Amino acid sequence: MTENETNRNFITEIIDTHNESGRFDKKVHTRFPPEPNGYLHIGHAKSIVLNFGIAEQYGGLCNLRFDDTNPAKEEQEYIDAIMEDVKWLGYDWGDRLYFASDYFDQLYDMAVELIKVGRAYVDELSPDEIREYRGTLKEPGKHSPYRDRSVEENLELFEKMRDGGFKEGEAVLRAKIDMTSGNINMRDPVMYRILDAHHPRTGDKWKIYPMYDFAHGQSDSIEEITHSICTLEYEDHRPLYDWYLDNIEIYHPQQIEFARLDMTHTVLSKRKLIRLVQEGHVTGWDDPRMPTISGLRRRGYTPESIRNFADDIGVGKVKGVVEMHKLEYHIRDHLNKVANRVMAVINPLKVVIENYPEGQVEQMDAVNNPEDESAGTRTVPFSRELYIEREDFMEEPVKKFFRLAPGREVRLRWGYFITCTDVIKDDDGNIIELHCTYDPETKGGQAPDGRRVKATLHWVSVDQAVKAEARLYDALFTEEDPESDPDKDFTEFLNPDSLKVVDPVYIEPYIKEAKVGDRFQFERLAYFVVDPDSTDDKLVFNRTVTLRDQWKKQQKKGGKKGKQRQKNKRK
Ligand code: ATP
Ligand code: MG
Repeated sequence: MTENETNRNFITEIIDTHNESGRFDKKVHTRFPPEPNGYLHIGHAKSIVLNFGIAEQYGGLCNLRFDDTNPAKEEQEYIDAIMEDVKWLGYDWGDRLYFASDYFDQLYDMAVELIKVGRAYVDELSPDEIREYRGTLKEPGKHSPYRDRSVEENLELFEKMRDGGFKEGEAVLRAKIDMTSGNINMRDPVMYRILDAHHPRTGDKWKIYPMYDFAHGQSDSIEEITHSICTLEYEDHRPLYDWYLDNIEIYHPQQIEFARLDMTHTVLSKRKLIRLVQEGHVTGWDDPRMPTISGLRRRGYTPESIRNFADDIGVGKVKGVVEMHKLEYHIRDHLNKVANRVMAVINPLKVVIENYPEGQVEQMDAVNNPEDESAGTRTVPFSRELYIEREDFMEEPVKKFFRLAPGREVRLRWGYFITCTDVIKDDDGNIIELHCTYDPETKGGQAPDGRRVKATLHWVSVDQAVKAEARLYDALFTEEDPESDPDKDFTEFLNPDSLKVVDPVYIEPYIKEAKVGDRFQFERLAYFVVDPDSTDDKLVFNRTVTLRDQWKKQQKKGGKKGKQRQKNKRK
């Protein structure tokens, strides 16, 4: 599916039913509600594309709302990064930027209302006791001895909580629901806790903070969200959100849960991503190996490729793991259309063309992008001394190796046909140089007599080549599922070869114009993007993705093990 087609899924079916029944006056108003306690990852991208996409599809609106109810873990840096990422993905929340913390006064009033109707109470059990009284999946919970306090006493104590009369952990406000409920979320959940923390937006105004569950549903209600789309973990919280809305008697959005995105060879939990950053396993949140949006951006991913990926995997109710090669398929597909080609040599072998005049440089015409005529053409300098890729030569070619070998003729892309005449070695027998001849009649890569060659190689001219650094990235984890072994920490599966730096690589001079963020295909090698670490003196390139799918092979190798891991996980 492409992004222009209309996406149909179980969520649009629900919306259509509402539109038919007139439940929300045919309005569609969604929101993306991140907690600013980390950078966004590809899973969040799925949620962003879904929420903004559905609003767009129905001519509705989508808000950006920060669920900033936990001051201990939240930072302005995350707020800024999240806004940048959502914008970069191509979405616009207009003037609808909200913060749950903007609703703290209203939420406080709602809590007071629940106290007044006898449906909330101040509990002075310790956190451990609260846990103990809650019961288990098999055992019902027990009533707190503080459960039947009078409304007046509760009002007074809640004010005391607000005014700093209790210390952290000494008191909480709880909803009075049902300590025997089969749904543990309904066993008198905590609504407010005391936190001695500075909030990035409300500063030191509040000593008490609403729990996420007490803030989320009401924030949706305040913003008149019609369809509150969230991941499956919140299915069991829905009865609680409904209870709050019904008992406070305010507008009621429809919550709809979908299966969160999970991917192979990475982790998608902020808690784990924070560890990768803090423990120095990666260089930061935007390390190109990270599954964060900022990491993918730095890796060279385009917003289009991520949106297409999200559309392609679709939304459903069934949990599943999406393979990394699906994401790579979409960036390859997009870059093939938009990235200019250049020639670069990563592992050089020098070629001297013996019959080419010394000192002569010819500018050969080259097409920038065969998929896009508007990308135009450029020239590539050809001279007597060139680099080719070492892997493109074999002294004793094996079967099916059609590239350069002694006595064999190949085409140099945009250049000439060359034939290898001599192999030069050092004292240890290592090949250090090839001597070749060229056919002056084959300029541009065509022989007038129509003779054919079986291989076309990329190359660069030694004297004009630009030296640059190339960072070759591979999967961050060796295991398909680094979280599957309960006895091992996921960091034990970090791939020691996830980054290989090659410095220098040699690139044709056209690359001098490149700016940070520009994306190229290094012909026959991979797609690359210019990294912000580049300086005026030296360009740094990140390998975005190889030209061909490298996972297929690996999957075959790891097939049996993969199945075993799945089994372990189920246990
Ligand atoms: P994490 O588990 O990574 O910490 P989270 O759910 O705590 O994620 P939030 O900031 O609360 O992170 O998420 C904002 C929105 O993104 C929520 O609506 C959440 O359901 C959605 N979301 C988070 N992770 C995924 C995922 N892997 N796939 C799809 N949607 C996700
Ligand atoms: Mg969350």
